[in-house]
Amino acid sequence: MKNLKIMDSETNEFFLFHGTKKDDIARICKDGFDARLSGTSAGRLFGYGTYLTPNFSKADHYTEDRTSSKRLKKDAVRTVIVVRAALGAPYRLTAPNPEMTVPPPHPVDGAPYDSVFAPGIQESGVGGVDWPEAIVSRDSQLLPAFLVDYKHMNSCTCSECLKRPA
Ligand SMILES: [Zn+2]
Repeated sequence: MKNLKIMDSETNEFFLFHGTKKDDIARICKDGFDARLSGTSAGRLFGYGTYLTPNFSKADHYTEDRTSSKRLKKDAVRTVIVVRAALGAPYRLTAPNPEMTVPPPHPVDGAPYDSVFAPGIQESGVGGVDWPEAIVSRDSQLLPAFLVDYKHMNSCTCSECLKRPA
């Protein structure tokens, strides 16, 4: 994620993507992120918090209800949020941990790590996740910065579009 880093300090700040359903976008833009609402539809493989990714295609997965009968049409307009995320000192997870509500204590000061980082299987990482993810449970570390509206072409054959109605 180094190439997305926008500040080189202890804030460890990145631009990351957050995909969510259309109905949630206005609320997040108005009130900010609310970790209490995270994972209610997308699952919580790495515990409580708002899930972010450096991979746009991963965020794309969460722009719709993934129940097959409720998927959006392939060429529907979708929205992904570009988030300024201060990851601080991230805790590197070595296995899924859906029950984690707060990151473990940092050895230096005993306070919880500021975020959780799951490196993804390509970086010798965690089983169960293909691409890296960052999980932030403290909403003040996240700022929705931009919205990206886009759509897949009707002829798209990406792995998600193969499951979407034409
Ligand atoms: Zn596609």
